Amino acid sequence: MSAALVVSDLHLCPTRPAVAQLFTDFLAGPAAAADAVYILGDLFEYWAGDDDLDAPFNAAIAAALKRLAERGTKLYFIRGNRDFLIGPDFARASGVILLEEPHRTDIAGTPTLLLHGDTLCTDDLAYQRFREKVRGRSWRDDFLAQPLSERRAQIEVLRKTSEAEKQIKSAGIMDVNDAAVADLLRANGYPRLIHGHTHRLARHEHVVDGHRCERWVLGDWYEDGSYLACDEQGCRTLVWPPAA
Ligand code: MN
Repeated sequence: MSAALVVSDLHLCPTRPAVAQLFTDFLAGPAAAADAVYILGDLFEYWAGDDDLDAPFNAAIAAALKRLAERGTKLYFIRGNRDFLIGPDFARASGVILLEEPHRTDIAGTPTLLLHGDTLCTDDLAYQRFREKVRGRSWRDDFLAQPLSERRAQIEVLRKTSEAEKQIKSAGIMDVNDAAVADLLRANGYPRLIHGHTHRLARHEHVVDGHRCERWVLGDWYEDGSYLACDEQGCRTLVWPPAA
């Protein structure tokens, strides 16, 4: 049995039903055999507010998570940049425990730090300014006060702008900044680090102040799925569905 499985960046949305099915199969399969599952953000392509739980697609995902939680797997959720508006109503409907990032925990005896990962992309100044604005209380309150249909339309505009900007931003700007990684490791006692966001599935090593720290980057679920399985032996990346 795996102590903990970690996923992120599934970007679930009704236009990609095959990936939603893949995720539901994952929840009924390896996730059900795990002690804990951590979802490190961008589970959804976007989240317009917890009142969007009435949408059948969102309700079905929440129900699939809830089934897993009721079977005894602990489910934890850190919000990503796409689904940062997830709130307590979603947590109740899905059985997930919402965590603030970065979240320090112990996985099978190893101190581990979990976060979505966008805060590490400090070279992308325009994005960090945007993030600061939308994560503020006043923006959030104003946004959520608007009708759901209006919020959905605004998110559609934001997504299109973001896609267009990604085309002209360099790959380096959109990756994590090594100094930001080092600062985070230093501030948290040189833990193992696990994050998503960049979709650049990899295992890195950082030597900070003489401490060798692992940094695991999770993959996205655009084609096939993948997840990190961590136990007493350490972490390893697995593909989902498993290779034949
Ligand atoms: Mn992200």
